[in-house]
Amino acid sequence: MVIKLSTPLINYPKDTILSFSKDEEMFRGVVKEFCERYIVPVWVKIDEEAEKDPMNIPLDLYSKMAEQGLFAIPCSSKFGGQDGTYTMATIATEEVAYADPAVAIAVYMLLNNGWPFALQIFGSEEVCQEVIPEVAKGRAFFGIATTEPHGGSDIAGIKTTAKREGSKYIFNGEKSYISGVGEVQKLPWGGGWFLVARTGGAGHRGLSAFAFLAKRNGVLSGGFHPTIYHDIGRHGLTTGGFILENFELDAKYLLGEENRGFYHVMEGFNLARILVSAACVGAMKWLLERAAEWFKQRKLFEGRYISSFQGVSFPFAELYAKYEAARYFVYRAARLADKVYVEKDPTVNPRDLNVPVALAKMWAPLAVADLAEEVMKWYGAFAYTKECPVYRAWLGTFSYAIGAEGAQNIMKYIIARDLLGSEYVRA
Ligand SMILES: Cc1cc2nc3c(=O)[nH]c(=O)nc-3n(C[C@H](O)[C@H](O)[C@H](O)COP(=O)(O)OP(=O)(O)OC[C@H]3O[C@@H](n4cnc5c(N)ncnc54)[C@H](O)[C@@H]3O)c2cc1C
Repeated sequence: MVIKLSTPLINYPKDTILSFSKDEEMFRGVVKEFCERYIVPVWVKIDEEAEKDPMNIPLDLYSKMAEQGLFAIPCSSKFGGQDGTYTMATIATEEVAYADPAVAIAVYMLLNNGWPFALQIFGSEEVCQEVIPEVAKGRAFFGIATTEPHGGSDIAGIKTTAKREGSKYIFNGEKSYISGVGEVQKLPWGGGWFLVARTGGAGHRGLSAFAFLAKRNGVLSGGFHPTIYHDIGRHGLTTGGFILENFELDAKYLLGEENRGFYHVMEGFNLARILVSAACVGAMKWLLERAAEWFKQRKLFEGRYISSFQGVSFPFAELYAKYEAARYFVYRAARLADKVYVEKDPTVNPRDLNVPVALAKMWAPLAVADLAEEVMKWYGAFAYTKECPVYRAWLGTFSYAIGAEGAQNIMKYIIARDLLGSEYVRA
């Protein structure tokens, strides 16, 4: 099945609400070209090969993405970033997911843009100088590590401890379902995560955030014991866990204030969730076009196109509405992130992002899951073969509906809590 992304299969309506500047349109064009050249021809092979062995990480592509300037887009050029906006990172993530709807490559975008940007907000100049340029050059990975085996939604219940001893913190505990465990080991410089651990008493006020570097300058630190999982989709980006046994980290890697880590990581989540949702939107566009392509060739019952039956065209129209709504939520949140963090508009603050971002992250993963399931059914039996790539988008994007970067119910909780007030809504 050969797919050309540039073939227009759907007459998209003219957009009046979502408008992009000339520079943004040019940037989208450049990313699209990169994707057509380097991602479209290989994404199925990447998904196939890493399904057999998760450590089959596409390091070549990773380097090319860095060369193209796709990592650390919103970070400052003094740290090797692109001095771009968050909207630009969102545009790039959407395009990458449109080219790789199994979304492993899109996850590189969200981790290596969202979390280095969060690092820039909370990290010292010295730590940013050390880490962000390596991420921007494609020599390191920087993601997020909050989830633990007892349950990822309950961040306030994190058990991993970080005890201050002189100029160091000593870590003990376990993190699970963490993206990038293989990348940190395989990339030449290494990297790590925006990691949250307990430095104080119980609850969310006893947590601190760290630029936790498991590997620096090519050297893996002692006390870090990783495992790699076999995921059901989005192959090409590893997921794994690690046990920390007396892992030592210099105190300079503390992010923001001690025991304020819960608030810091929530800001980071707001940023990363915009890009997760953008990846869902990109994959939705690919899926809608695969549906259109199929409708225009599949004929049944005396030669009628299957889309001539309302049982097919009506759900298509409904799912298209979900796509437009998802796209609107995503770009509204991205523009607001720019107001807060790039323009530093004093009339908005980081908390103002909570509801717009949660709307995007609540909506887009379920919208793409619904669409992918329906496209699978429209393709009939062919969808159930490995020759038809639709299932790759279905399994890959489902990672977001399950909970990568926050479960759906947690998004609903955030929306209800912020709309009604925390005294009326509890997790
Ligand atoms: C592919 C993939 C990649 C991931 N990458 C990372 C990563 O890089 N870093 C990282 O830290 N984590 C990562 N995660 C973990 C992810 O953040 C968690 O899956 C998520 O936070 C949910 O946690 P959990 O899976 O432990 O489910 P749980 O927290 O145990 O929740 C289980 C179910 O209960 C529901 N639930 C929980 N609490 C409530 C409540 N109060 N009210 C109503 N319903 C509730 C949830 O919605 C969910 O459906 C990844 C997950 C996946 C699938």
